[in-house]
Amino acid sequence: MKHYQTASLVGAIFVALVGCQNILPTQPSAPKVVINNSDDAQISQQLAKQALSSRLSYDIVESLTVEVGPRLSGTEKDIVAVEWAMEKLWLMGFDKVYKESVQVPAWSRGTAYASVVSPYEQPLVVTALGGSIATPVNGIQAPIVRFESLEELTNASPGRIEGKIVFIDHKTERHITGKGYGESVGGRSRGAIAAAEKGAVAIVIRSIGTDHDRMAHTGMMRYQEGVPKIPAAAMSNPDADLINAMLKRDPKVVLSLNMTSENQGIATSYNVIAEVTGSSKPDEIVLIGAHLDSWDEGTGAIDDGAGVAIVTTAAKLIQDLPQKPARTIRVVLFAAEEVGIVGAKAYAEQHADELDKHYIAAESDFGAGPVYQIDFNVNPATYERVKQEHSAMTLFGVEIGNNDASGGPDVSILPALGVPVASLRQDGTDYFDYHHTPNDTLDKIDPKKLAQSAAAYAQFAYMMAQSEIDLRPLKQKEQQH
Ligand SMILES: [Zn+2]
Repeated sequence: MKHYQTASLVGAIFVALVGCQNILPTQPSAPKVVINNSDDAQISQQLAKQALSSRLSYDIVESLTVEVGPRLSGTEKDIVAVEWAMEKLWLMGFDKVYKESVQVPAWSRGTAYASVVSPYEQPLVVTALGGSIATPVNGIQAPIVRFESLEELTNASPGRIEGKIVFIDHKTERHITGKGYGESVGGRSRGAIAAAEKGAVAIVIRSIGTDHDRMAHTGMMRYQEGVPKIPAAAMSNPDADLINAMLKRDPKVVLSLNMTSENQGIATSYNVIAEVTGSSKPDEIVLIGAHLDSWDEGTGAIDDGAGVAIVTTAAKLIQDLPQKPARTIRVVLFAAEEVGIVGAKAYAEQHADELDKHYIAAESDFGAGPVYQIDFNVNPATYERVKQEHSAMTLFGVEIGNNDASGGPDVSILPALGVPVASLRQDGTDYFDYHHTPNDTLDKIDPKKLAQSAAAYAQFAYMMAQSEIDLRPLKQKEQQH
């Protein structure tokens, strides 16, 4: 998950206002929300009930995390995951199962060691950021210079930084929408560029995570053409606290850092795709996606085995209906999301000539649920009808939010290409406790919450595959995420 969910606060306020309408004297004639009770809506409710009483979603994520486990893009395990997905989807009986090749960056984590050399010798828990180069064989030893945020680093004078190890100490705030991640993650992705531009020899950030566990959160970082490449690592939150306590006693804290991570060129991976063929508009597509790759330190349960399970279960329930919906449901398990939404970009290129046939797209990449709100990004002129059409989702704990969705990381590139999207907002309160750590494991998933998310996706996908509403054109481009 890369893009945090911007619009949920607005959505929450909107929902709060809608909820208050019948007690506001200034709006006596506000329309009452009537739950959609059409035949399609009733089928969608039946699908949701089936999802809630089924163990299928949990069985899928258990299978992926036990039989494959960590599956870093560009590694052998990534290909094992592709084979797992092809076989699983085939055995589930989808009308079509296929894969499309994607060229992805390959990187090996190696080892990462860090310690405080002075004023008080102590080991630290660190991990390399994805894409980082190694340190020289004998490591790097240098004083640290601390910044509250990427912004403070960007505004600092190079004189303070030259020859030092930059330490970005940005705490990630806990929030249901995950907005704290959006505020701090720039230090991870762009910190090495900003630090190297001012002469730093390495960068070590406070983990982008809301936990207090003594483990570090990895995640992608970038270099920039023309700017020196420096090693980049994250330290655990308790270690960042430790450094702060030392800085209070002595402004000169010297770190030693030794990393052996390595960029290994380009490898081949695959987007894995399964379809429920539409009965009357088979060339029109409702895309529900997740990403198949994961970071290498946990077993990729919440990120994004859960998403794989949620969208696959939703499509399987629709596959098994006696009467298929009008449009095709396409499940896309994207390759290489973590290393820069590489699979999604390849998908958009490979399917450029049918993007106008993509009715709507959504992606589950925010843990294991539950879904508490659905937002759309559709034609503003028809948005009210879309809301009304999906009102039966409220029976299963999903509020109808706003028309400002990004759709999830992989599908976030589609609105700029004219494709409508929806964001089924999953509760992210504890998501960033485990995200990108060795602690991203199956035990963090509650089967009931996972099943509720699958129910929401099943309702959404079915209603959209049957809808008669024109979802295009979208709002003007400057309003897109
Ligand atoms: Zn993810």
